[in-house]
Amino acid sequence: MSGEGRGVVWTDEPWMRRAIAVAAGSVQTGDVPVGAVVYGPDGQELATGHNRREATGDPTAHAEVVALRAAAAVLGSWRLSGCTLVVTLEPCTMCAGALVLARVQRLVFGAWEPKTGAVGSLWDVVRDRRLNHRPEVHSGVLEAECAALVRDFLSGLRDPGGGDRAVGTGLAGDGDRRADR
Ligand SMILES: [Zn+2]
Repeated sequence: MSGEGRGVVWTDEPWMRRAIAVAAGSVQTGDVPVGAVVYGPDGQELATGHNRREATGDPTAHAEVVALRAAAAVLGSWRLSGCTLVVTLEPCTMCAGALVLARVQRLVFGAWEPKTGAVGSLWDVVRDRRLNHRPEVHSGVLEAECAALVRDFLSGLRDPGGGDRAVGTGLAGDGDRRADR
Protein backbone atom coordinates (compact mmCIF):
# COMPACT_ATOMS: atom_id res chain seq x y z
CA MET A 1 0.00 0.00 0.00
CA SER A 2 2.97 2.31 0.24
CA GLY A 3 5.14 3.99 -2.34
CA GLU A 4 2.25 4.98 -4.57
CA GLY A 5 0.79 8.31 -5.50
CA ARG A 6 2.18 11.61 -4.46
CA GLY A 7 5.32 12.40 -2.58
CA VAL A 8 4.21 11.90 0.99
CA VAL A 9 2.30 8.66 0.61
CA TRP A 10 5.35 6.51 1.24
CA THR A 11 5.38 7.70 4.83
CA ASP A 12 1.99 6.24 5.62
CA GLU A 13 3.26 3.01 7.12
CA PRO A 14 5.77 4.61 9.49
CA TRP A 15 3.13 7.15 10.42
CA MET A 16 0.69 4.35 11.17
CA ARG A 17 3.26 2.62 13.34
CA ARG A 18 3.44 5.81 15.33
CA ALA A 19 -0.38 5.86 15.67
CA ILE A 20 -0.31 2.23 16.85
CA ALA A 21 2.20 3.18 19.53
CA VAL A 22 0.02 6.10 20.59
CA ALA A 23 -3.00 3.78 20.93
CA ALA A 24 -1.28 1.95 23.78
CA GLY A 25 -2.08 4.94 25.97
CA SER A 26 -5.76 4.00 25.94
CA VAL A 27 -5.34 0.60 27.53
CA GLN A 28 -4.17 1.88 30.90
CA THR A 29 -7.53 3.51 31.47
CA GLY A 30 -9.69 0.72 30.11
CA ASP A 31 -10.38 2.56 26.89
CA VAL A 32 -10.54 0.70 23.59
CA PRO A 33 -7.09 1.29 22.02
CA VAL A 34 -7.32 3.74 19.15
CA GLY A 35 -4.46 6.08 18.30
CA ALA A 36 -4.29 9.14 16.07
CA VAL A 37 -1.51 11.45 14.91
CA VAL A 38 -1.74 14.72 12.99
CA TYR A 39 1.12 15.59 10.65
CA GLY A 40 1.66 19.06 9.27
CA PRO A 41 2.05 19.91 5.56
CA ASP A 42 5.81 19.52 5.96
CA GLY A 43 5.44 16.05 7.47
CA GLN A 44 6.26 17.15 10.99
CA GLU A 45 4.26 15.58 13.79
CA LEU A 46 1.94 18.19 15.28
CA ALA A 47 -0.06 16.27 17.84
CA THR A 48 -1.27 12.89 18.97
CA GLY A 49 -4.39 11.59 20.64
CA HIS A 50 -5.65 8.32 21.97
CA ASN A 51 -9.14 7.27 22.86
CA ARG A 52 -9.80 8.34 26.44
CA ARG A 53 -13.51 8.41 26.75
CA GLU A 54 -13.52 6.21 29.84
CA ALA A 55 -10.63 8.12 31.36
CA THR A 56 -12.30 11.48 30.98
CA GLY A 57 -15.99 10.61 30.96
CA ASP A 58 -16.16 12.65 27.77
CA PRO A 59 -18.25 11.11 24.97
CA THR A 60 -16.31 13.11 22.38
CA ALA A 61 -12.85 12.01 23.55
CA HIS A 62 -12.14 9.80 20.58
CA ALA A 63 -8.52 9.65 19.42
CA GLU A 64 -9.18 11.72 16.30
CA VAL A 65 -10.96 14.55 18.11
CA VAL A 66 -8.29 14.66 20.81
CA ALA A 67 -5.55 14.83 18.17
CA LEU A 68 -7.34 17.43 16.03
CA ARG A 69 -7.89 19.69 19.04
CA ALA A 70 -4.26 19.39 20.06
CA ALA A 71 -3.01 20.05 16.52
CA ALA A 72 -5.23 23.13 16.22
CA ALA A 73 -3.83 24.40 19.51
CA VAL A 74 -0.29 23.95 18.18
CA LEU A 75 -1.09 25.79 14.96
CA GLY A 76 -3.26 28.40 16.64
CA SER A 77 -6.02 27.78 14.12
CA TRP A 78 -8.94 25.44 13.61
CA ARG A 79 -7.96 25.17 9.97
CA LEU A 80 -5.69 22.18 9.42
CA SER A 81 -5.25 22.65 5.68
CA GLY A 82 -2.47 20.53 4.25
CA CYS A 83 -2.40 18.28 7.31
CA THR A 84 -2.72 14.51 7.43
CA LEU A 85 -4.66 12.67 10.11
CA VAL A 86 -3.45 9.12 10.69
CA VAL A 87 -5.66 6.88 12.83
CA THR A 88 -5.64 3.18 13.57
CA LEU A 89 -9.39 2.66 13.10
CA GLU A 90 -11.93 3.90 10.56
CA PRO A 91 -13.41 7.12 11.97
CA CYS A 92 -17.00 7.28 13.22
CA THR A 93 -19.48 9.92 12.07
CA MET A 94 -18.37 12.41 14.72
CA CYS A 95 -14.69 12.10 13.87
CA ALA A 96 -15.25 12.03 10.13
CA GLY A 97 -17.31 15.20 10.51
CA ALA A 98 -14.63 16.81 12.65
CA LEU A 99 -11.84 16.14 10.19
CA VAL A 100 -13.90 17.54 7.33
CA LEU A 101 -14.63 20.68 9.36
CA ALA A 102 -10.93 20.98 10.19
CA ARG A 103 -10.14 20.90 6.45
CA VAL A 104 -7.73 18.02 6.91
CA GLN A 105 -6.18 17.27 3.52
CA ARG A 106 -5.51 13.57 3.93
CA LEU A 107 -6.93 10.83 6.08
CA VAL A 108 -4.98 7.61 6.58
CA PHE A 109 -6.63 4.85 8.56
CA GLY A 110 -5.79 1.25 9.40
CA ALA A 111 -8.60 -1.14 10.27
CA TRP A 112 -12.14 -1.00 9.00
CA GLU A 113 -14.89 -0.55 11.58
CA PRO A 114 -18.00 -2.20 10.14
CA LYS A 115 -20.16 -1.30 13.15
CA THR A 116 -19.67 2.47 13.18
CA GLY A 117 -17.33 3.43 10.34
CA ALA A 118 -18.16 6.62 8.46
CA VAL A 119 -15.45 6.46 5.80
CA GLY A 120 -17.03 3.77 3.66
CA SER A 121 -18.46 1.16 6.03
CA LEU A 122 -21.81 2.56 7.15
CA TRP A 123 -21.52 6.04 5.73
CA ASP A 124 -18.97 7.87 3.63
CA VAL A 125 -18.92 11.29 5.23
CA VAL A 126 -15.53 12.36 3.90
CA ARG A 127 -16.45 11.76 0.27
CA ASP A 128 -19.98 13.12 0.38
CA ARG A 129 -20.25 15.45 -2.59
CA ARG A 130 -22.69 17.66 -0.73
CA LEU A 131 -19.88 18.80 1.55
CA ASN A 132 -17.48 21.48 0.40
CA HIS A 133 -14.34 19.71 1.57
CA ARG A 134 -13.40 16.12 0.79
CA PRO A 135 -10.11 14.82 2.15
CA GLU A 136 -8.07 12.24 0.28
CA VAL A 137 -8.35 8.84 1.91
CA HIS A 138 -5.82 6.05 2.20
CA SER A 139 -7.41 3.09 3.96
CA GLY A 140 -6.18 -0.27 5.17
CA VAL A 141 -2.66 0.83 6.11
CA LEU A 142 -1.21 -1.87 8.40
CA GLU A 143 -4.80 -3.08 8.63
CA ALA A 144 -4.05 -6.40 10.33
CA GLU A 145 -1.98 -4.83 13.08
CA CYS A 146 -4.53 -2.11 13.68
CA ALA A 147 -7.39 -4.62 13.87
CA ALA A 148 -5.38 -6.75 16.28
CA LEU A 149 -5.11 -3.81 18.68
CA VAL A 150 -8.86 -3.78 19.22
CA ARG A 151 -9.30 -7.54 18.99
CA ASP A 152 -6.63 -8.25 21.58
CA PHE A 153 -8.09 -5.64 23.90
CA LEU A 154 -11.57 -7.11 23.63
CA SER A 155 -10.35 -10.66 24.13
CA GLY A 156 -8.55 -9.45 27.26
CA LEU A 157 -11.86 -8.17 28.57
CA ARG A 158 -13.28 -11.64 28.19
CA ASP A 159 -10.56 -13.24 30.32
CA PRO A 160 -11.63 -14.40 33.78
CA GLY A 161 -9.36 -11.73 35.21
CA GLY A 162 -10.93 -9.13 33.02
CA GLY A 163 -13.34 -8.11 35.73
CA ASP A 164 -16.71 -6.52 35.31
CA ARG A 165 -15.97 -4.99 31.95
CA ALA A 166 -16.22 -8.44 30.38
CA VAL A 167 -19.77 -7.82 29.33
CA GLY A 168 -21.23 -8.20 25.89
CA THR A 169 -18.02 -8.80 24.04
CA GLY A 170 -18.71 -11.79 21.83
CA LEU A 171 -16.19 -11.41 19.02
CA ALA A 172 -18.45 -11.37 15.98
CA GLY A 173 -21.47 -9.92 17.70
CA ASP A 174 -19.69 -7.50 19.97
CA GLY A 175 -21.39 -4.53 18.44
CA ASP A 176 -22.08 -2.71 21.64
CA ARG A 177 -18.61 -2.78 23.03
CA ARG A 178 -16.77 -2.48 19.76
CA ALA A 179 -18.97 0.30 18.49
CA ASP A 180 -18.83 1.86 21.88
CA ARG A 181 -15.25 2.94 21.88
ZN1 LIG B 1 -14.89 8.79 16.50
